[in-house]
Amino acid sequence: QVVNYAPFTLLPSTVPSALFEQAYAVQQDFNLLVDAISQNKEFLEHTLASTIKVDDFTARLFRIYTQVLEEGLAQSVFLGINRSDYMFDCGVDGTPALKQIEINTIAASFGGLTSRTVAVHGQVLKVLGKSKEASHLLPNNPSKGLALGIVKAWELYGSQSAVVMFLVEEVQRNIFDQRCVENELWNRNIRVIRKRFRDVFEEGSLDDAKRLYMDGQEVAVVYYREGYVPKNYDQQNWEARLLLERSRAVKCPDIATQLAGTKKVQQELSRPGTLERLLPGHAEAVARIRATFAGLYSLDMGEEGDKIAAMAIADPDRFVLKPQREGGGNNLYGEELRQVLEKIRDSPERTSYILMDKIKPQPAINYLLRAYSPLQVSECVSELGIFGVYIRQGKEMVMNRAAGHLLRTKAIEHADGGVAAGVAVLDTPYLV
Ligand code: ADP
Ligand code: MG
Repeated sequence: QVVNYAPFTLLPSTVPSALFEQAYAVQQDFNLLVDAISQNKEFLEHTLASTIKVDDFTARLFRIYTQVLEEGLAQSVFLGINRSDYMFDCGVDGTPALKQIEINTIAASFGGLTSRTVAVHGQVLKVLGKSKEASHLLPNNPSKGLALGIVKAWELYGSQSAVVMFLVEEVQRNIFDQRCVENELWNRNIRVIRKRFRDVFEEGSLDDAKRLYMDGQEVAVVYYREGYVPKNYDQQNWEARLLLERSRAVKCPDIATQLAGTKKVQQELSRPGTLERLLPGHAEAVARIRATFAGLYSLDMGEEGDKIAAMAIADPDRFVLKPQREGGGNNLYGEELRQVLEKIRDSPERTSYILMDKIKPQPAINYLLRAYSPLQVSECVSELGIFGVYIRQGKEMVMNRAAGHLLRTKAIEHADGGVAAGVAVLDTPYLV
């Protein structure tokens, strides 16, 4: 009654190989960018100023961020695991273009389960008598790629007896995805513990050197698979988060990197000149990054925001309205977008949202398999995610990689929502 299978497509979905390669080629640039933002207090402060006035969740994260900076950072090794997500926008002439949906800098999931989907789709193709096509599927093992980042961070932390802590939710539906990464660590003789914020509140402590201990066990790396939405926090959990952030342990991610992944930051990055300021001397990286941006617009108070709000109200089907939330199912589209924006157009509340051009991919046919649901053919669109892993020690990047990919596919009647939200399913790209 409680065990279920992760939903998946019956068949792999086609992905244009040029766009697939483009997504891989820009991943190291995005790693650099996120890391640069996380170290740029002035940029974060300036960018999030309007948001934190009206969004309490971002404001609380920001308060921890400033408090920890004022106390002085105890952490010197930084591990980033992110996933940059894209859809293939169909231009007027029908040529698809790679457009970024967002970058997830905390708890980016499904790297574990998707390490198994190639085998599933390979098998299905063979059963259908398509062995040649089966051999065309690319190998993909983000579990290992993510784990290698954690291993390296654990080594640099430099304590043989210290453990890696996975910070997990109260009710954990996606445990097997995490186990895939965890097992890679056990295989390399690194101990892993799984704890909730509540456990950290009860068992966690810092010593004089701000080393983190859980019930007497030193923690080298804290890997967050929790803590990215308001419902993850009560007062105790906020205190636990503060304790973790103050510690010397490698947080994946640290709170600055979580803030770097907000939708407001994404929108500000699209302003002319911003990427150049954040990545001086990296003109080619800047060009590769910018090529993936869709139109993004600020709804800050003032003339610019007024114009944007009016434009969206007049033509809501061209846009997506996004609050500062993660996890799928939060964005507004079409008529609902128009109604909400009309209600808040003259109120500072509008600054808790950003506006984005709606990406319009070409639908394709597939079957979505989900436990207890009838099998039916659907018109679908796919979203490609590339996992990025990087490590900085002090000021020096010591690892910067792309660590595999994730393809998620959903029926076109759903405008929004990922796999965890029960909308998208796991897929495998078939390059064409
Ligand atoms: P979340 O943090 O909730 O995952 P996203 O920005 O990834 O927020 O949006 C959730 C989903 O909404 C995406 O997976 C995608 O299906 C859809 N979506 C988001 N932005 C756009 C867009 N600009 N155009 C079309 N669909 C979008
Ligand atoms: Mg998303």
